[in-house]
Amino acid sequence: MATIVITGANRGIGLALVQVYASAGNHVVAWCRDPARAEKLQHLAAGSAGTVQVVEADVADAASVDRAAAALNGAPVDVLLNVAGIFHMEKGVDDRDFDGWRQSFEVMVIGPFRVAQALLPNIEKAKGKILTVTSQIGSSVWATGGMYSYGAAKAGVNRVMKSLAVDLRDRGVAVAVVHPGHVQTDMGGPNAAITAEESATGIRDVVNAMTLENSGGFFKWDGDPHPW
Ligand code: NDP
Repeated sequence: MATIVITGANRGIGLALVQVYASAGNHVVAWCRDPARAEKLQHLAAGSAGTVQVVEADVADAASVDRAAAALNGAPVDVLLNVAGIFHMEKGVDDRDFDGWRQSFEVMVIGPFRVAQALLPNIEKAKGKILTVTSQIGSSVWATGGMYSYGAAKAGVNRVMKSLAVDLRDRGVAVAVVHPGHVQTDMGGPNAAITAEESATGIRDVVNAMTLENSGGFFKWDGDPHPW
């Protein structure tokens, strides 16, 4: 039974990943900002015979992440899935409000690095894997304008994870980023191309294909390489 830590686990792709991993009998540690309001996740955990554990963790808050990591009591972690994300839309090129930028960077650039740091002793014990959910919007192939802070945050975390892959290879930890597809969630909207379950199943297969040899890769949810 592998131990999987998932951030942003209370809805969307994160919740679907909890279902995919729990239904295969894994120990899922489901991190979410507000367990009291995570009804679907709590329901899943209640029916999981103890295999799904709900833990409070705001990835933008260092003390919260440290508390959640400490709750593992040094247990090995086989897979860390950094899923938590927000979508801040600027009003246009003249928008001078940068609070959304700062929050985007806290959650999607610093957050995944902070969580990886906090869990590194646990992940190293298992010779585990770190997969961060990024977006095609942070890649060079995205030709649409706007989405400044979101695209910058995803491009930023891609770079962070590339460095982490290099630095952790000798320590036996594989690192990658994945574009999850355009997914039917609160963020992706109801008309997106694929369901959260389809995306989560693909992401699970990407995790299974991660090795130290291909560490540092950028993948699509269907396993194909994604251009940087
Ligand atoms: P949702 O908006 O459905 O869910 C976002 C999740 O992130 C929620 O669980 C939310 O928790 C959590 N979250 C936000 N901020 C924090 C925080 N500070 N600490 C902990 N958790 C937090 O989004 P998706 O499921 O669609 O997106 C998941 C990931 O996939 C994101 O990184 C997103 O950028 C990426 N992605 C999504 C695409 C799509 O089409 N849906 C396309 C490309 C990338 P809460 O309920 O408390 O707000």
